[in-house]
Amino acid sequence: MVVALATFAAPSVRADGLQIVSHGLSTYQIVCSQDAVPATLLAATELQQFIEQSTGVRLPIVAPVKRGLSSIVLRYTPALPRDSFRLEASGPDIIITGHDTKGNPGVINFENPVSCGTLYGVYEFLERFLGIRFYWPDTLGTIVPKHAELSVPTGLHVQQAPRFALRRLQYGPGFVNHRDEDATRMWGRRLRLGASMPTRFNHNWWRIVDVEQWARRGHAEYAALVNGVRSTVYEKVPAHRNGQVCTSNAEVQDIFVAAARASKRGIFPVSPNDGYGGFCQCEKCQSLDSGRVIPDGRFAGRRDLSDRIVKFYNLIGERSGRPVAGYAYNEYVGVPAHTKLHPNVSISLAINNAFLSGRPDERARAERLYRAWGAYSPTTTAYDIFYLTRQMPNLLAPLGTDIERRIRLVEESGLAGAHFYIAPKMELGGPDAYVAAKMLWDPRIDTVRIREAYLQDLYGSAWRSIQRLYERAAQQWRHVVAQHKNARKRRQAFLKILPTLRADLEHAERECDDDPAVKERLFRLREAVGRMASE
Ligand SMILES: [Zn+2]
Repeated sequence: MVVALATFAAPSVRADGLQIVSHGLSTYQIVCSQDAVPATLLAATELQQFIEQSTGVRLPIVAPVKRGLSSIVLRYTPALPRDSFRLEASGPDIIITGHDTKGNPGVINFENPVSCGTLYGVYEFLERFLGIRFYWPDTLGTIVPKHAELSVPTGLHVQQAPRFALRRLQYGPGFVNHRDEDATRMWGRRLRLGASMPTRFNHNWWRIVDVEQWARRGHAEYAALVNGVRSTVYEKVPAHRNGQVCTSNAEVQDIFVAAARASKRGIFPVSPNDGYGGFCQCEKCQSLDSGRVIPDGRFAGRRDLSDRIVKFYNLIGERSGRPVAGYAYNEYVGVPAHTKLHPNVSISLAINNAFLSGRPDERARAERLYRAWGAYSPTTTAYDIFYLTRQMPNLLAPLGTDIERRIRLVEESGLAGAHFYIAPKMELGGPDAYVAAKMLWDPRIDTVRIREAYLQDLYGSAWRSIQRLYERAAQQWRHVVAQHKNARKRRQAFLKILPTLRADLEHAERECDDDPAVKERLFRLREAVGRMASE
């Protein structure tokens, strides 16, 4: 196992506090009931493992308390909000307590989320008092500084809660199809990603009412009426090849309500099939629209369908009595003009323009929609794509300041959280994934300092060259996005920066210390830059 040594100790370690480890010895035990939920038990083993890696001392995990030893007590406090925790000193003991629920904390489940307050309290403890950093999912990107002493201030009192109820970075931590699933999931957990409320947003109409099948059984009227024809097939998104439904048809409504009632899911997704166009033009459906047209973006000038879609979400949420989730997307991305949101419905705002943040018009559009939805419903979350894996395969294109600005906008708009697609590999995104994860817990953090610490901890004395490399890539991406609308041209224009990035890397390799971990990280970056050229 490679355990990296950081060049600096944690600044907040104080010699005059409670001495947990001193000269390789400890009088402390970790106290955790064996009946605790898995999230609390995991908190105990994570604490034990990382204290041992850092100090060489393995504290026993016990229950009940053994006399003669001081304690770090881990326990559940139901009065705290989901995912939140408190760290406090109590005489010689330390209490780490949070809101924990049943379920497997090793998997980040967004539909039936596991509350992990005590575990997040342990990570805060490890970061704060041992300087441990979870930069990457693997050991090469996990910084565990060596300490002979571990002490904690006698007046310790820290209480934290996540700022956002949804903290999701797809393709990064918690993403299911990642090459190293378990490590990636634990990385997400260690960075306190996850959800404090159930969310699940799928394009789901094709699964609930298969209009092609129903047409064969004599119910063509379940399908959307498009240019005078009941349209059962939809070509634009092959995976969901069904047409949209006629949402004002009473039998279609009954089928959706029954499906929501029968569902065992924590929340039931009720979004239209993916793509655009193909919505019902029958008189009844059209009468539900506001009469507005979409003001900007790709669908500018088209009929705004927000009112009819939200009315349909409301109908399912109200009649089933179950929580349901739907996208605001494409022709229904705007806030409805005449319809309030039913409390059983939550919305995911999917503008899908984050990778175009280099364009002022796209930034302004996101800002307008975020603020409108935040004012309309505080449970709305943002969904967007910073990294298009199909258009940008293997591109080193960090979106650092753009993703920071977007998360701040989520906060200012009063939205409940974010689900953003980021680069699939750590080397491709640089410090972005780490900074974004940290901001989803607390958007007020000092991101400049965190970015610098990330580069210094991982690349040692070569850090400035690597900083330059990522900044150049980010600038180039913003530049090509503003210049080219065509994805292929954007890619070609972006790759013109390759020789400069190679020069930055060579510079970094010359100035790096004789540290095998730093050399390995630079090697991975060189591989990433090489793949970019060969694609
Ligand atoms: Zn209709």
